[in-house]
Amino acid sequence: MAVNVDPQEIAKFSELAHRWWDPESEFRPLHQINPLRLDWIDQRAGVRGKRVVDIGCGGGILSDAMARRGADVLGIDLSTKALRVAALHALEAGTSGVQYREVSAEALADEAPAAFDVVTCMEMLEHVPDPSLVVAACAKLVKPDGWLFFSTINRNPKAFLFAIVGAEHILKLLPKGTHEYAKFIKPSELAGHCRAAGLVVNEACGLEYNPFTRRYWLSGDTSVNYMIACRKPA
Ligand code: SAH
Repeated sequence: MAVNVDPQEIAKFSELAHRWWDPESEFRPLHQINPLRLDWIDQRAGVRGKRVVDIGCGGGILSDAMARRGADVLGIDLSTKALRVAALHALEAGTSGVQYREVSAEALADEAPAAFDVVTCMEMLEHVPDPSLVVAACAKLVKPDGWLFFSTINRNPKAFLFAIVGAEHILKLLPKGTHEYAKFIKPSELAGHCRAAGLVVNEACGLEYNPFTRRYWLSGDTSVNYMIACRKPA
């Protein structure tokens, strides 16, 4: 089976991996949105005591936070360096209930179908050659009646302006080349992948950013960054 991964994408994240837990680094946006997305997920799925898999976990910003809320978390990624940083952070911070593994979503789904109560896959689909295969793997990983959460970036002129021109070129929040416009995903496309995988899409939520106050907040505006919540029918 061909692996659904772009080695250049993995190299990009591996190169920055040592800065993953520096809240003022290239990963500042992920640190800033983390409490917002954590609450959004937790309010719906109630992660305490749940078995959670975090797909494309990187340095573990969300995995670690969910484990601190009492979830039993497995973070997976294909960047060896990011995973090392994630494991080291768990050790240093004394986070219990989180483990990290280098395995693709598709391979884990073959190995452990319906093994997780909750699947999270944040800011990852826009870095993958075929996101529909990742969504299908996530659907296979979750138990019936379980929850899935995806986040990515919308594809339209405003998203191009904010997520690429603004974030990479003007504000320099992210390194140039972090995102490729053609890989952005419209909510309708993501919902289509979810439905094709047998999931029910419950809700969408926007993540907005004010460059002057440098703050993020959740809103109904999904035109740039957004999340969706899905369920697998019981
Ligand atoms: N989900 C984390 C990290 C997002 S950065 C968070 O939101 O905090 C994107 C991550 O996706 C990187 O760690 C990168 O290595 C990973 N990634 C990219 N392609 C992947 C693939 N095909 N399989 C697994 N992980 C992948």
